Amino acid sequence: MNLVWIIGKRFKPKLRIYSGEVVVSKIKGIFMLSNIDDATLARVAQALGEEDAIKMIEILKSSEETTDDEIANKTTIRLNSVRKILYKLYDRSLVSLRRTRDPKTGWFIFHWRLQPDQLEGFILSRKRQVLEKLDVRLAYEKNHDFYYCYTAGCKRVPFEEAVELVFKCPTCGKPLMHYENERILIALSKKVEQLRKELGE
Ligand SMILES: [Zn+2]
Repeated sequence: MNLVWIIGKRFKPKLRIYSGEVVVSKIKGIFMLSNIDDATLARVAQALGEEDAIKMIEILKSSEETTDDEIANKTTIRLNSVRKILYKLYDRSLVSLRRTRDPKTGWFIFHWRLQPDQLEGFILSRKRQVLEKLDVRLAYEKNHDFYYCYTAGCKRVPFEEAVELVFKCPTCGKPLMHYENERILIALSKKVEQLRKELGE
């Protein structure tokens, strides 16, 4: 069962921004970078709403410091997009920035560096937010009896609302019948349990 469908629009976890402390660029070994797996990268990209962020973080991972030009050349992502995504990452303290001046042109050069420990914190904080929402949703499903017209595109309503509607669907007019939400409860419980495990709770 698709979790997004279960959670529904109203309860879809919002992609809130993790506002970690801005950490002054520290010299870090690149050993930690190997800890960032594909799933983590995918989550970061999803949180930023930027598919290209995956490719960019891969490039950032592979060297200690990179310029926006280098990233654009290696990924074929347009320089404007590269900069936009870099600033999004910077906003969330996932990369640090060092600025130098090109002695020939006098223009600034921006050197970017991945902050792997911040990346992990970012993921954990997002997982916690999702867990909170799922917990609320799970309690809601447990504490309510639902009624449904069994028509695609219509919504389930809790008992109290169904009474007010005289058990008639407000969308299609068909009668509202009891809806067994056991499968939803199982799917939600599984997801909650999995997240708890991942968070070590
Ligand atoms: Zn209906």
